[in-house]
Amino acid sequence: MKLERKAVHKRAAGKPSIRYRIGLGVLSVLVCAAVIVWFRSPVMAPDASGSVTAVNPKVEVKKRELLDFHMDNLTQGWARYTDGMMTTKDGGVQWLAAASDSTNAVLSSESVGVSDDTVSWMSGKGQNPSVIHVQDTDYKVYKSQFLTRNVGWVQLENGSNAEAPLWVTIDGGVTWHPKVTADIAKEMDAERVRIQAAVKEAAFYNEQETAQKAMEAEWAVLPETASPGDVVLVRHGQPGEITWEGKTYKLEPFGAGYFTYLPMSLAIKPGSYPIGDSLLTIKAKKFQTQYLQVTKQMETMKQETKRIDEDQKKIDKARSESQSEFLFSTNFIKPIEGILTTPYGYTRYVNGKFDSSHRALDLAAKEGTPIKATNDGIVALSELLYLTGNSIYIDHGMGLFSQYAHLSELRVKAGDHVKQGDIIGLVGTTGFSTGPHLHFTFWAHNVPVNPDLFFDTTPFHWLPAPGANFPQ
Ligand SMILES: [Zn+2]
Repeated sequence: MKLERKAVHKRAAGKPSIRYRIGLGVLSVLVCAAVIVWFRSPVMAPDASGSVTAVNPKVEVKKRELLDFHMDNLTQGWARYTDGMMTTKDGGVQWLAAASDSTNAVLSSESVGVSDDTVSWMSGKGQNPSVIHVQDTDYKVYKSQFLTRNVGWVQLENGSNAEAPLWVTIDGGVTWHPKVTADIAKEMDAERVRIQAAVKEAAFYNEQETAQKAMEAEWAVLPETASPGDVVLVRHGQPGEITWEGKTYKLEPFGAGYFTYLPMSLAIKPGSYPIGDSLLTIKAKKFQTQYLQVTKQMETMKQETKRIDEDQKKIDKARSESQSEFLFSTNFIKPIEGILTTPYGYTRYVNGKFDSSHRALDLAAKEGTPIKATNDGIVALSELLYLTGNSIYIDHGMGLFSQYAHLSELRVKAGDHVKQGDIIGLVGTTGFSTGPHLHFTFWAHNVPVNPDLFFDTTPFHWLPAPGANFPQ
């Protein structure tokens, strides 16, 4: 390969001058030897533009003219020289002569565009240097192609004295290299991993514009407005943690960022709350009061604290471990089409006494109505509990669980992987229940949160496109 031969030639030219310097400080015999070496080596002299070139080299290296090049992505590309076509399949570490019959096929994809590995806003499209600067010399660029914001290639204008016609950068054009060395290949591998992670994450957002907004921000809060009892998803570009309402939440890595759900208490005061360099606005919300009459026998159920505590331990254990990734890929759905008898957040009085805030939806339906998994996940618990009857918790990853209570029948067991829409059980009235209904809610880090936020959407879609108004 001529490219490599050129590099070898340059290295050989550098060595004699070192030998010459050593020669200066020793005996005259050695000085003579050094002088011989000096005369045998090509004389280095600055040219008109100030760069150093070999004058009168013994072996004239025939310049190989590069006509065109194109990188399909961070891995493969081609370079067309006057005397043939070279292709690479390893990001430019090795260039191999292409078989003549494949030349035309490769040539047909000649358009310079966005890399196959990236989505448009991640590519370095628009970064088009007209010169590159290498060791005090500017070289004019004939054609450039940035694959990402960091990795780009340039073809120099013909007739330059540069070491190679094709140069690569891995730092957005700050430094340029005539060859993909092992170190550069390593950096390119890292860039590939970064881009893959970013592409994976970007797919979760509504549209690329929203993905870009969230992923380029230091902090993103999805959505930027919430009410008491809601939950938001926080994204940060770096690892770390957030202290929120007296609790600390660790940011977990996913895609190109770090995430946590932040649950809002029912008592949180309206106002603006800084989260990193972002702002979360809490709007006031009034919850209604519901008075429920139950039989004396049912009322005494709540006094069985020992059984209730035992169940709570099981629930806490099931909810203590969550997959460290978002398990869903589509919208969350309503598990049944029932009649909403108790909305989320109602202040509930049972037989005239304050009971609790109902942080779930009660959806009344006929006994035996099939219940669907709200989204993909892993069953964390599926068993008969004292108050909530036949109960299921599904882990959706990153500390988010959905809960289904009072079922007549359980159709899944702990550890099962479920898909959105899978039938997981049937509507019933087991446990503390006055009639067939599904008690359904979400838990974010062991805090029940408003299920209405999730239906027909996902937390990644809670961030409106720039300029759009978030539906209130
Ligand atoms: Zn309920």
